[in-house]
Amino acid sequence: MKNTTTPSKTENSLFRPEPEIPESSISETIETDVLICGAGNAGMTAAMVAAKQGSKTLVIEKNKKVGFIKPYMGAVDTKAHKAAGDKAKIDKEEIIKEIVNYGARCAGDNHIYRPGYKPSKYIGSNKVDEKLVRLWADESGPTFDFLADELSEYGIRHVVEYDTGNGQHGGFKAYPTHTKLLVPFHKGGPFAIIHAGIYVLERFFVKKTKSLGAQYMFNTAMVKLIKEGSRVVGVIARKKNGSYIRINSSKGVLLCTGGYAAKEKMVAKINPEATAISVLRYEQEGNHGDGITAGLWAGGEKDKYPSAMVFDRGITKPGGKSDLPIRKGGSFDSFFFASQPFMKVNKEGKRFCNESVPYDVILNPLQNEKDGVACILWDANYWKHVKRFHTIGCSRVVRSKSKPKTFEGMGRFMNSGLILMMRLKGYIKKSRTIEGLAKKLKLPEEELKSSVKRYNEMAGFGEDKDFGKPAKDMLALNKPPYYGVTYAGWLLTTMDGLRINENIQVMDKKGNAIEGLYAAGDMAGGFFANNFYPELVVGVAVGKTMTFARHAVLHMTGSE
Ligand SMILES: Cc1cc2nc3c(=O)[nH]c(=O)nc-3n(C[C@H](O)[C@H](O)[C@H](O)COP(=O)(O)OP(=O)(O)OC[C@H]3O[C@@H](n4cnc5c(N)ncnc54)[C@H](O)[C@@H]3O)c2cc1C
Repeated sequence: MKNTTTPSKTENSLFRPEPEIPESSISETIETDVLICGAGNAGMTAAMVAAKQGSKTLVIEKNKKVGFIKPYMGAVDTKAHKAAGDKAKIDKEEIIKEIVNYGARCAGDNHIYRPGYKPSKYIGSNKVDEKLVRLWADESGPTFDFLADELSEYGIRHVVEYDTGNGQHGGFKAYPTHTKLLVPFHKGGPFAIIHAGIYVLERFFVKKTKSLGAQYMFNTAMVKLIKEGSRVVGVIARKKNGSYIRINSSKGVLLCTGGYAAKEKMVAKINPEATAISVLRYEQEGNHGDGITAGLWAGGEKDKYPSAMVFDRGITKPGGKSDLPIRKGGSFDSFFFASQPFMKVNKEGKRFCNESVPYDVILNPLQNEKDGVACILWDANYWKHVKRFHTIGCSRVVRSKSKPKTFEGMGRFMNSGLILMMRLKGYIKKSRTIEGLAKKLKLPEEELKSSVKRYNEMAGFGEDKDFGKPAKDMLALNKPPYYGVTYAGWLLTTMDGLRINENIQVMDKKGNAIEGLYAAGDMAGGFFANNFYPELVVGVAVGKTMTFARHAVLHMTGSE
């Protein structure tokens, strides 16, 4: 049986062709009501909703275990926000506008790129689907309230992080969208604060969804969708031993297989900006764009505009450069401290931008700089400076004052440990003099000396005449020892995906819904465009992922 339509030529050049799988090689057929492909942030949320409703729910997962549920969950108007009162109040219209406009801040049609570097042709702003952004703003509250209720029996509490300091991150407004499902200490919660892939929340998702009747099949990869007429009725999946199974799903198929960050060549083709400024990648294992590819085969349309989540915490050895091949590493290979708005210089030893901007925005100027990297400099006063900066989201290092406690901010002790570890690994360099530091960082000594001298003078009279950095963040480098590290991007995931409508149904090229087919999470598009993620709307990626997963199931089962 030929199940799907043929993808367009453009898509063919980026995505592999659809395989034919003869009926004779299918060893088993399984029936379910709701089929969820991928057990990550979206998949486990969907499983909770579907199983709670009593639908026969099956989750298939390519890996041998569920994915890592991320701790920064962006939401608006949850019960946790309401309990925190005015401190956590968010103007919905303002935040919708912020997300919709974000691309404008991050890329401009006049952007100049460094020689030899070819950007994607789509630059600009307001290219997201505002209806989807509104859906997140309206439904993230009920979604996280629902999850919090379901998980409360394990002592898990939903808390909001509202300590945004002066409410600004550089010249940008910071929003108290960050919420967390906090696992109690005695059940492994403390590790959640270090964001190191040893988070424990997913265990409770699995426990609860199983208790509600959801079934999981691990080492089982969705390969392609099955269509009858124009409707998607199931999938063909491959087990670890190579055999194929057919899964028929009466209510619909929800694809939640994540982005394609594990295929760096694909990232380079679709998201050239991301690879051009990245030195490190750490994606969810298995994110090969399988769902996007299968959706295209089934007639779905993909976002035109690329988008990837890249943070300024990739570090490399002195003299290093961005671009392929991107070093693969885990959380402990990234350097959280790099997001602090310390003085930064390019390979010529010169400042090149206002450092006091969000951590995705600071990466854009690297597209103009030699080798797509720069150096961060700090001195022995760094902890005092960090307290003044008071950055938020996952760049926060100072302890949060939110109540109830969120355990955000790694604090001085752990931060010093990270600096030491990165020094021992040969990334961070230390010297009693600026010249000595320049030598170790492979920067021109005289140029660096004069850049630091000018920076210190401007810090002294409280005005950055070169780049307009806020006076609060202009802090002189004058107490040895001096430190420095070469940094660029840390690629986490891709976020351009299949076009979806407000019911989270995948749309075809004419904008019509493909019946029976839904997509949520990183593999679903329309929400981010042309930027490295609006991270001052903290946690909005997971926030919209989980919100849309819930909505998809409610629509599929007719329970909206
Ligand atoms: C280290 C890291 C930290 C992050 N922290 C945050 C954060 O705190 N807040 C935030 O908002 N965003 C964060 N993000 C981004 C966030 O994880 C994503 O934006 C998104 O929410 C991921 O959810 P998902 O369900 O789409 O995909 P994933 O969570 O990546 O799950 C996809 C799942 O599908 C499985 N899969 C893949 N192919 C198949 C197949 N063919 N068949 C079956 N299963 C398949 C994968 O194995 C995986 O388990 C982080 C990303 C990374 C990498």
